[in-house]
Amino acid sequence: MMQFIAHQTPQDTGWIEVICGCMFSGKTEELIRRLRRAQIAKQDVKIFKPKIDERYEKKKIVSHSEASLPSIAISKSVEILKHSKDADVIGIDEAQFFDDDLVEICNHLADEGKRVIVAGLDKDYKGVPFEPMPQLLAVAEYISKTLAICMNCGNPANMTQRKVESQERVLVGALDSYEARCRKCHYIPESEEEE
Ligand code: ZN
Repeated sequence: MMQFIAHQTPQDTGWIEVICGCMFSGKTEELIRRLRRAQIAKQDVKIFKPKIDERYEKKKIVSHSEASLPSIAISKSVEILKHSKDADVIGIDEAQFFDDDLVEICNHLADEGKRVIVAGLDKDYKGVPFEPMPQLLAVAEYISKTLAICMNCGNPANMTQRKVESQERVLVGALDSYEARCRKCHYIPESEEEE
C-alpha cells in the first residue's frame, strides 16, 4: 500500500520564501542569516539586489547591523536567470524595487527546483502595498513578517514613517528620514493626504 509521508520541508522541489516588513525590522538580517546557513551547507548561493539601492556597498547586501554578503546588482529581474543556472539557493534583497516580472522569475526558479528567498518592504510610507511584494506573498510557500519596534511608543511596529516632505515614493539611502512606527503612531504627512 502506498503511504503518504508528510515532510516538514519540501523534498525534490523548489519553493519561495518571502521575508517582509517595515523599515528597521531586520529583513536583510534575516535574509543574510538564511543564506549563510545554506553557504555553510556548501550549497551554491547567488544573491541579487536592485541597482537602485546605493546604500553601503554596491556589491554586497548589508543589514543595518552591518552583516553583509557579496551580491550582484542588477537593473531588470530577468537578469537573475542568467546568473542562477547552477544555483541551489537564490537570495533577493529589496524586492520592492524590482519590476513586476520578478514574480514570474521567482516562480520559474522555484519550478526548476531552486529555493528562492526574497526580502522586501511590503508597504510604502503611506501604508500602501508595494508591488511586486503582494504578488510574491501570494505565490510564496513560506512567509515571514518581521516587525520593528515603534520609535515613538515601543509597541511592535509594522509601518514606515517618513519624517520629511517629498513627492517621491522612496528616498533611497535616506535612512534618517524614516522611523519604524506602530499603527497607532503612524500618520500620513498632511500635505499628501489629498492625493
Ligand atoms: Zn507607537
